[in-house]
Amino acid sequence: MSAIDLHSHSNASDGALTPGELVERACARGLKFLALTDHDTLSGIPAAKEAAAGKLVLIPGIELSTTWEDHQIHVAGLFIDPECPELKELISAQRQRRIERAEQIGRRLESLGFKDARARTRQMAGEGAVITRGNYARFIFAEGKARSVDDAFNSYLKRGRKAYVITRWIDIAMAVEIIHRAGGAAVLAHPRRYLLSNGKLRALIKYFKDSGGDALEVASSQQRPCDRAYLADLCLRYGLLASAGSDFHNPGGWRDLGLNLDLPAKVHPVWELAVAQGYGFA
Ligand code: AMP
Ligand code: MN
Ligand code: MN
Ligand code: MN
Repeated sequence: MSAIDLHSHSNASDGALTPGELVERACARGLKFLALTDHDTLSGIPAAKEAAAGKLVLIPGIELSTTWEDHQIHVAGLFIDPECPELKELISAQRQRRIERAEQIGRRLESLGFKDARARTRQMAGEGAVITRGNYARFIFAEGKARSVDDAFNSYLKRGRKAYVITRWIDIAMAVEIIHRAGGAAVLAHPRRYLLSNGKLRALIKYFKDSGGDALEVASSQQRPCDRAYLADLCLRYGLLASAGSDFHNPGGWRDLGLNLDLPAKVHPVWELAVAQGYGFA
């Protein structure tokens, strides 16, 4: 178990727990530092901060959706100032894109026989939540139309399936620029989950680095040791810092807060950048 987890979700996007419940679980699991990184929204941060007061350090974060060469790539911003005007502006544009996409996905599911898919998926999420394919996957599973949430995702929502909608998100360089304007560190999230060949992944990382990116998410909860070692090597090769985050969404899965997040000794942790901001990492 680790005391630092820099990637998690609440029901402000596609997590199952409220921000308060998330913080409670983090405390119970012995975390001292937790970043809340909901998809394209900061709306869970105030409640998470309130719940964390005096118990753990809540790091404001966000997971931004970007597009690189036809691939959906997630760039996390950590240690950000939630009041940054440019960041707020970007979030409202992303939210609009998310709303349109959720409507399109909902219509496709409705044409496949899922009654009121969008409205009912919204009901299952937090109030005003940003809706992702993760929310729809949970809805499909709850309808009994898939063996698991994973199966729902793979059968309906992933690229090439009937309810998949192509979305053009912002460029990686723009995500990095806005994260920097907000005083944060830009992290390429879960680099091994994009199903890219090693050569393609290196091209992505080079583009991310050339765009001013700061760190790779080297350690995730659910990961093969060889992948973690490979990502640590890539940090050194491209001069990037390393982050560690579970990407926790809901209890009962393979990923959990603080689980299996140790960074290899040879990398420089991204929180080195944050020490100067008074986050008090040792
Ligand atoms: P989106 O950003 O709307 O494209 O949705 C991406 C989200 O879908 C991720 O953050 C996960 O929460 C969820 N997701 C991705 N892959 C899977 C999977 N294989 N099974 C279940 N949920 C998934
Ligand atoms: Mn998600
Ligand atoms: Mn992600
Ligand atoms: Mn995530």
